Amino acid sequence: MNIPLVDLKAQYSSVKGEVDSAIHRVIERGEFILGPEVNAFESEMAAYLGVKHAVGVASGTEALQLALLACGIGPGDEVVTTPFTFIATTEAITQCGAIPVFVDIDPKTYNIDPQKLAILLETKSARKLPITSHQSPLKAIVPVHLYGQSAEMGPILDLAQKYHLKIIEDCAQSLGAVYYTTQSPVTNHQSPVASHRKVGSLGDTGCLSFFPSKVLGAYGDGGMVVTNNSELAEKVTMLRNHGCKQKYYHLVPGFNSRLDGLQAAILRVKLRHLDEWLKLRREKANLYSQLLESIDGIEPPYVVSYGYHVFNYYTIRLNNSKLSRDGLKQFLNSQGIATAIYYPLSLHLQEVYKSLGHKRGDFPNSEQAQEEVLSLPIYPELEEEQMERIAKTIKEFVNSD
Ligand SMILES: *Cc1c(COP(=O)(O)O)cnc(C)c1O
Repeated sequence: MNIPLVDLKAQYSSVKGEVDSAIHRVIERGEFILGPEVNAFESEMAAYLGVKHAVGVASGTEALQLALLACGIGPGDEVVTTPFTFIATTEAITQCGAIPVFVDIDPKTYNIDPQKLAILLETKSARKLPITSHQSPLKAIVPVHLYGQSAEMGPILDLAQKYHLKIIEDCAQSLGAVYYTTQSPVTNHQSPVASHRKVGSLGDTGCLSFFPSKVLGAYGDGGMVVTNNSELAEKVTMLRNHGCKQKYYHLVPGFNSRLDGLQAAILRVKLRHLDEWLKLRREKANLYSQLLESIDGIEPPYVVSYGYHVFNYYTIRLNNSKLSRDGLKQFLNSQGIATAIYYPLSLHLQEVYKSLGHKRGDFPNSEQAQEEVLSLPIYPELEEEQMERIAKTIKEFVNSD
């Protein structure tokens, strides 16, 4: 029996009755673009994340783009993120006319390294002449919560406050993940102070993706911008719908980027199961780590003490140069086990960003990760025997090498 990377059909079977009746409800009502299901889903997601506003849009990529635009990012501005993320993060930046500025990742978490971020910001601000100090082109940070785990938000929020930068969180892989705030409250945003905060509620805005393979997946594309800032919410609401508040009266240049009623109705059903699914994902991840721990050269994912990991992906690292990551991928594939590499080429080395002038060696942690990571099948319905088989197959490969 083949083991897929994600099994969307298994999940559908578990909620078929609820999903089917939600779909029929929308078709009977005939409200397909925005409408009552989208409104209800927006309120339910806002409540789930503990934020004031949620605005449904057409995809995670557009959630990022509209959030950046709403935050005032435009041509010539610079936006910081890591080179070890999906291209959508930087596409959203360049679609605003802005320029991505990369900071390397922490090799353990694959998320932005706050110390490296601090150094970059210090260097940039030192280079500025006093007269231009209010015109720094650097405007925002997009921390990506990769694989399902929160970036180290405390120091990032402090730096944003110090340098007057907006924070647009890329939560596409981390809906439901939590950052455990340890220090005194950060003061540059309006959300209520709490010791545990879900990602997306920490920055100025959070961006969600409902791509089918994400922890909360639609049956098509979908995304959402969440925020505690009413002004930003209002801007995104205008931008997603042709720049108008009132139909046919257009205030700003906008987009057609709306969430479908059908997707919202399906997502409402799934949101009710999300916490239970995340718990199952964490249980699977735990078992995997136990099974893999003792295998030489295989490093299970590092789980930080300041976060609740939701394991959108379960990503191992091959830390012995004698082991071939691509060889392991091939071997698992030959045994009917699907895997994926997120991501095989860091963004600063991509053809599309040649003009940024980066070269190999600029972001060594990201470059090393691209050679060593491998994501294994994970989904709430994955069975223990399947995981045992996967671990056994990995062991077989390591021992034969
Ligand atoms: C999936 C993803 C996106 C984009 O989401 P889409 O809904 O596919 O447009 C953005 N950033 C990251 C890190 C992602 O994994």
